[in-house]
Parts: sequence; structure tokens; C-alpha cells
Amino acid sequence: MKGLNRKNKKSKFKRTIMLFISAIFLFSTSFLVGGYFGKKNSVVVSAVKTNENAKNNEQKNDNTKDDQKSNSDREQKDKDKKEKKSEPVLDPYKPDGKKVAYLTFDDGPSSNLTPQILDILKKHNVKATFFLIGTMANENSELVKREKNEGHSVCIHSYSHDYKYVYSSTENFLSDVKRCEMVIKSILGDDYETKLIRFPGGSFGNRLNPYKEAVKKAGYRYVDWNALNGDAEAEYVSVNKLISRLKETAADQEHLVILMHDAPAKETTVQALPSIIEYLKGKGYEFKLLY
Ligand SMILES: [Zn+2]
Repeated sequence: MKGLNRKNKKSKFKRTIMLFISAIFLFSTSFLVGGYFGKKNSVVVSAVKTNENAKNNEQKNDNTKDDQKSNSDREQKDKDKKEKKSEPVLDPYKPDGKKVAYLTFDDGPSSNLTPQILDILKKHNVKATFFLIGTMANENSELVKREKNEGHSVCIHSYSHDYKYVYSSTENFLSDVKRCEMVIKSILGDDYETKLIRFPGGSFGNRLNPYKEAVKKAGYRYVDWNALNGDAEAEYVSVNKLISRLKETAADQEHLVILMHDAPAKETTVQALPSIIEYLKGKGYEFKLLY
């Protein structure tokens, strides 16, 4: 019995050892397996995270793209602004071997004619410069916006266009010019810069010298014209007459600053405009803006 007991004790001990070993084995196996799946899970999680990251990165990239886009838009705007500011057309008549035509329209915008003029310019892919009367701009602010939005130049003619008032003193003239500028800014925004004036009736000769000095001192520039369609030479001027006046006054000049009007009564100016544009294109003129 003693021997048997000892034998039993021995095998019990053996069994315990075996159990212990298998317990360790099982434990370590499950630890390894668990570790593996845990790892796998963590890979999935991080894969999801990676997707999220990718998404976030995509969004970031998109945002960056947007930023870059808006940056480049801004840069372009700044560039335009700088170009406009630093390179105004100081002497539009100066020959440079190129044929350049500056179409200009005074006394608008008018609700009946300016939209038609804008349509014609758009159709012919031509840009022009509009010298506005402040009171007219106030009445037709949507047209002022349209002029700017369609790439034309919006400049100052005066607020009242009342010769008696504006030419009675340089103070009156300047305040009328500033008032017109304020109207344009109130419509197009404070960042719209316009310092170019066309004197009502033009600034030819010496009679307006004090006025020219006064506006220059105040930071403005001004421009007259060296060609016209003659639409201000009579109450009514026929289309044919307008075209022939244009050809006559343009003559063989390399650079043309062409005076026309988009005042409400100048219907024939609208009717003659397509022929005038075609004529100038045929003569090889490139159309540019004054500002
Ligand atoms: Zn005028």
C-alpha cells in the first residue's frame, strides 16, 4: 500500500506538473493569439484611422487648394490693383508702333442706351471706358456694376455736369469730382480705385489751367480725346454722319481716344457703334482701357 501510495503520490505530482505546464502553455498561447488579434484589431482601427486621416488630409488638401485658389485670386486681384495703380495710361496718345483704340463714353449711364452699348461691346469682345455723371450713376447703379463686372473701366466725369457750377471755382470743381468719385465707390465698393477724370466739355487750351493744377494736386489725372463720332455736335446726328466723323477724326493716328456719349438722347451712337468697331478692327486697332 505504501508503495502504491507513493506511486499515486508520484503520478499526482506528475499530473500537477503536467497541468501546470499545460496551463502555462495555454496561457501563453492565448496571450499570443490574443496579442495577434489585438494587433490585427489595432491594425483595422488604425486602417480606419488612416482612412479618416486620408479623408482629413483630402479635406485639408481641398482646403489648401481652396486657400491656394483664393490666394491666387487674391494675388491676381492685388496684381490687377497694383497694375492699375502703378501703370495708369498716362499718355494714351504716345505712339509705340501699335494701333490702339480707346473707346470712351461720357454722360451715362442711361437706362435706355447703356445696356445696348454693353451688349454690343460684349458681342464684339471689346472693352471701353465710361466717364460717369454722378447723378446718372445714382439713378442707374446696376448699370455701373454691369460696366465694371463686364471688364470696362468706370471713371469720373463730374457729379452734376453743371458747367456753370463746376467752372465757377476750382473748389467747386474738386468737390463735384470728389462727389462723383464717392458715388462710384458707394456702388462699386471702397476698393474700386478711380482717379481718372474727363473734364466736362474737355480740358483743351489754357483756360482751365488752374483746374488742371487743382485736380493734379488732389491726386487725379485727366484725359481728353483725339477722335470722335461727333454725336455732341448737334441734337441729332445720323448714323452715317457719325461713322464718317469717326473715320475723318481718327485719320491715320496710331492711338485713338474716341469721344462718344451714352446719354439718353444719343440713339444713333448705339446704332453706329457696331460699324465703328468693325471699321477700327479692320484697320488693325487693338481696344484698350483707360484708367
Ligand atoms: Zn459730358
